[in-house]
Amino acid sequence: MITLEVVRNTRLSPHFTTVTLGGPELERLCPMGFDQTVRLFFPREGQAGLRMPTLSNEGWMAQVLLQPKSRRPWVRNYTIRRFRPETNEVDIEFALHGEASPASAWATRATPGEPAGIFDMGISYLPPSDASWHLLVGDESALPAILAILDSAPASLVAEVFLEVPESADIRTDLTPPRGVRIHWLPRDGAGAAPGELALETVKQASLPGGRSYTWVAGESRLPTGLRRHLVNDRGTPKGDIAFFGYWRRGRASPG
Ligand SMILES: Cc1cc2nc3c(=O)[nH]c(=O)nc-3n(C[C@H](O)[C@H](O)[C@H](O)COP(=O)(O)OP(=O)(O)OC[C@H]3O[C@@H](n4cnc5c(N)ncnc54)[C@H](O)[C@@H]3O)c2cc1C
Repeated sequence: MITLEVVRNTRLSPHFTTVTLGGPELERLCPMGFDQTVRLFFPREGQAGLRMPTLSNEGWMAQVLLQPKSRRPWVRNYTIRRFRPETNEVDIEFALHGEASPASAWATRATPGEPAGIFDMGISYLPPSDASWHLLVGDESALPAILAILDSAPASLVAEVFLEVPESADIRTDLTPPRGVRIHWLPRDGAGAAPGELALETVKQASLPGGRSYTWVAGESRLPTGLRRHLVNDRGTPKGDIAFFGYWRRGRASPG
């Protein structure tokens, strides 16, 4: 359990902000790169400080939930977008989706000096060494993880990347991925589709390379489950070559 504070809040585009967290306790973080995930703790509205769990074994969640709401922090899953050991800072990129959702609202207004905590959950991107190309697919919630994966990837990576974002103004123009990586930006631009639908339909229609692949897909739960079904049933991809993660569910708040 690592307690930090907000150092900066940098708005990136209409639907993304980067909250930079820092503090001496980051020396205890074991950086793994790729899609390294943390449980992020932050205070509820009106709470004076942050009460981090003291347990670092599987009992921490029970410890959080047993506290009365007046003392219990919010806890949500986020990805370490960047780690700078030289300044003891991590960046977390939030897809903003409205003031009614705790993490999205917190990230929108987080200001320097506010407390926040993290608990390392490790990585899920574990490609086999003999995959000749990778398929990376995500909606806006998985964009930070996919960009972090590309930052950690070897220069030899060959990948087809499908990134769905709410609007064209959310497309990143400052990326320098490996030469063999093709990024397909998929802005919804008010077309009325639910998050993940555009990415799923686009990959279904896409002409993809041959050879053994490794797929990593995350986002609203219908995207990873739908894409896995398509790859297995329609393209004959072995189930073991697909890593798929429901990052959130439409109409359901994350527990904690
Ligand atoms: C391993 C992992 C890593 C993740 N990394 C990141 C990350 O780096 N950046 C990031 O932005 N998200 C990330 N997510 C997704 C994030 O944890 C969820 O979106 C989370 O539900 C946000 O919490 P909240 O308090 O804002 O909304 P909640 O209280 O959980 O949900 C409130 C409402 O908002 C809806 N909702 C939740 N998320 C979204 C969304 N993205 N878009 C539209 N509606 C939504 C829910 O369906 C619900 O109706 C990650 C999830 C996992 C499992």
